Order: sequence, then C-alpha cells, then structure tokens
Amino acid sequence: MPNRRQFLKDAAATAGVVFTGCHLLNRKAHAQTATAGRRPVMVGGRRVITIDVHAHVIVPEAEALMGIKTPSADASVIEGSMMADRFQRMDEWRTDMQALSIRPIWYTLERDLVAKVNHLQNERLAALCAAHPERFVGFASVALQYPEMAAEQLEEGVKKYNLRGAAITGQINGEELSSRKFDPFWKKAEELDCLIFMHPAGIPELDKRLAGGGYLSNVIGYPVETTIFLSHLIFDGTLDRFPGLKICTAHAGGYLPSYAGRSDYGCVRSPSSCTGAKKHASEYLRQLYFDSIIFTPEGLRHLVAECGAGQIMLGTDYPFPWSTTTVDQVFQTPGLSDAERRSILGETAARLLKIKV
Ligand SMILES: [Zn+2]
Repeated sequence: MPNRRQFLKDAAATAGVVFTGCHLLNRKAHAQTATAGRRPVMVGGRRVITIDVHAHVIVPEAEALMGIKTPSADASVIEGSMMADRFQRMDEWRTDMQALSIRPIWYTLERDLVAKVNHLQNERLAALCAAHPERFVGFASVALQYPEMAAEQLEEGVKKYNLRGAAITGQINGEELSSRKFDPFWKKAEELDCLIFMHPAGIPELDKRLAGGGYLSNVIGYPVETTIFLSHLIFDGTLDRFPGLKICTAHAGGYLPSYAGRSDYGCVRSPSSCTGAKKHASEYLRQLYFDSIIFTPEGLRHLVAECGAGQIMLGTDYPFPWSTTTVDQVFQTPGLSDAERRSILGETAARLLKIKV
C-alpha cells in the first residue's frame, strides 16, 4: 500500500501548508487559530475543542464524473470564497472542527466509474484535511453496492489517506445494511476501529405518502430511514456479529432513541420476531452514537437519558441551516455535568475520530 505519510506530505505541500507529523493536530495549532477571532468554548474553566461530526462537503470534479454540475455558489464546496464562508460560520457557531462527509449518491454506478468517483473524493478530502488539520478530518466515500470493494476503500481511506471512517446512507439500492452481503464492510470497519457515519437519504417508497406540505420527505422520511436502519442492525444481529462497531447516526438517531421502549415491548408481544438480537433494543443504544441535532435542550436531555452522554456528539448539518446554536444547546440542557458537556462538545468525537487535542 502506498505510503500515507508521503501522500499527506505531498497533499499538504500542494495546498501550501507544511505537514508536521502523523498526528496533525496539536495544542499549538488550536491556540494559534483560537486567537484569530474565535471564541473558545470553556467548560468548568477548561478549553474544549468542539468537534462537529455532521458537516457536508462536495467535490465538484467527482460530481462532474457522475454527470452532475455543481452550482458555483454551493456552500458544500470548499474552494475560494466558500472556504472563507465556512471558516466564518464555524467561528460564529463555535465549532472548532468539522468531520467532513460526502453524501453518497453513487450507489447505482457501475464498478469502474464508482471507483474513480470515490478515489477522487477520498484523495481530495485527504488533501483538504492535511491542509487544515486544526479544522477538518474526513470520512471516506465507499461503494457499498460492491461490499468487498467498499471494505478495501475503507482500508485505503484510513491507512493511506488518514480519513477517520466512512460516510454511508441507511440502505443500498433497496437492500438493508443488515444483509449478510454487507458483512465484509462491517468486519473491516470493526477491524480498523473507525467511525461509520450514517446519514439518511429518504425513503423512495414513501415519497407519495410524504408529498405535500411540511417538508415531510425530509422531516419525517429521514428519521424514519434512520430508525429502520438501526432497527435492522439490531434485530438482524449485525451489532451482535460485530460488537466493536462504532456507528454514529445523524439527526439524533431518528425516532429510535425516543421510542425504544416500544421496540423492547414488541419482543414481549411477538417473541418469535426477536430471535436475531441478543439484547433488548434499548440496550444497544449504549453502544451506538448519535449526533446532537434534536433542536431543544429538553430533547437533548432525553437523548442523554436514553443513550448516555458518552454516546452523543455535536452535530450542525453544515451548511444546511438546521442548527446554528448547537453549542449553546449543550449548555442549556438541564442536568448535564461539566464532564458530560465536554464529552458531547468534543471529547467523544476526538476519541472516536482519533484526533489529538
Ligand atoms: Zn446532513
């Protein structure tokens, strides 16, 4: 496998920065950028590096390969003025770092094309993260329609490109990710001890029901897809087959964390439906991770009560304006200790994403 250190050195040099080591982050870098207009987040007198696990990015050249023309003003692009805008918003929102992900829209592509698309994306994202190590880490793009290939891409992403896991959606061309055909990918993710960030893309089968007012395809469709994804991983035994998996779902895990009692009781009502899981559904919440995009301090308090503060990480959905006060929300949430606040704001993400702060 090509040398990661050399790749990152070249990438950073191309971007006009100096590569300083495998662990690209250090206190000095944070201290330097913290004085450039950012308001550092302090908890109990201690500085916390806040890490946003839900931030979108697009690589226009990769979209072009798929026949998509990216609007020049798309805020998901990180080039030119979009870069400055992103840094400014991050400072305003008080997020020191973003874990960048590209939403998968390549699951229907044939093997050669998707390999090109994903390779380009992973290379570009790696170069971007190497150029701005105090602000970005990235998730790899993987072609889950070819599970063995996705496993290889994940390994290359982590080992060669210094990416910290992969970004996926909740189903692959109508197939649930709990299907045994995806086990090679889950096995590799567990082996690499990296974070898998799942972002829903909606449920095409529900488009007709969710049409009309209320933006239901997103508002309801996304959390339902996430709930289905997690429920299959639980009840089809994927989380038991790979207990070391680290999976973070977007939008606070959809409806599952707030309604897991029904999932548990479903197994009382219909025990024969629940032979695939070793534990109650609610118990798996303590081995899954969730972003904090749940909109209210009371919602976050309840998520903490169901899942534990150590399972929750800051999320903003950048650049989409769903949550611009996500840091404030952590401070407004009742009942959290300073240690729990630090955990949600950045410490858990730093550990899972292997960020040295
Ligand atoms: Zn999002």
